[in-house]
Amino acid sequence: MARHLPAFLIHKRIMIPSDTESSHESSRNSSGNRQDSETPRTHCIRCGTCCLKGGPTLHLEDRDLLAKGIIKRSDLYTIREGETVFDNIRGNASALAGEIIKIKGQGKGYSCIFYDECQKGCRIYENRPVECRVLKCWDTKDIKAVSGKNRLARKDLIPPDNPVAQLIAAHEQRCSYLALEKLIERIGGPDANETLDKVIEQLQFDHHLRSVVVERSPLANEEMDFLFGRPLATTIKMFGLQVRQKDKGFLLTPIAQ
Ligand code: SF4
Ligand code: SF4
Repeated sequence: MARHLPAFLIHKRIMIPSDTESSHESSRNSSGNRQDSETPRTHCIRCGTCCLKGGPTLHLEDRDLLAKGIIKRSDLYTIREGETVFDNIRGNASALAGEIIKIKGQGKGYSCIFYDECQKGCRIYENRPVECRVLKCWDTKDIKAVSGKNRLARKDLIPPDNPVAQLIAAHEQRCSYLALEKLIERIGGPDANETLDKVIEQLQFDHHLRSVVVERSPLANEEMDFLFGRPLATTIKMFGLQVRQKDKGFLLTPIAQ
């Protein structure tokens, strides 16, 4: 794998768009409230603004939706411990404690995957997740009461004796964000080359694990972002780095400021 990184790289965390702990909570100010400055809203008019801003974080109460097949693992992605997320309550970006599972957006956009643009409605409205049910964009009391509590994690959906759980554990051991951040902090130090090798090893492991799992198991490529979180080659942007494919390897460079 190719590598290239100037020694003067300054480590700092940045946001990747759409990484919010609860995009639903953040939707309150840009939908109902602004419009309601003249006519206060008292009920949901199903305008879909909250759905266009991203899918909800799932909670333990939402587990049945997966058991019944209403929501599939391929509809989800995991934000792993240590990833940078926007905390809507504190109003700042910070490393996530624990992990959360969210409903994916449509394509590269933010709209919830279940939002039907043509019908202007939710395709699973009668079975929508708890955050969607309690959201009132004009009154955030209920969503705040739910936010951050009883959050669903991969361990709640995959029993520990399942071989997939062991793969997830191996991935966390090799590719944790906490370890990656410590390595990136050392880039530019006296052992820069060795440090870069270790960062690239993590990127390689993350990349190859997904390929091997898809190739050798019945698991679909669409499930990988749920099982292993989003690819490190994408999320490494939060550390001000980007990965580009070059020849048969990757080129690691700072993101231009
Ligand atoms: S809660 Fe209802 S009214 Fe408010 S943004 Fe969402 S769909 Fe629109
Ligand atoms: S699940 Fe339905 S209600 Fe909830 S954000 Fe997605 S489209 Fe909107």
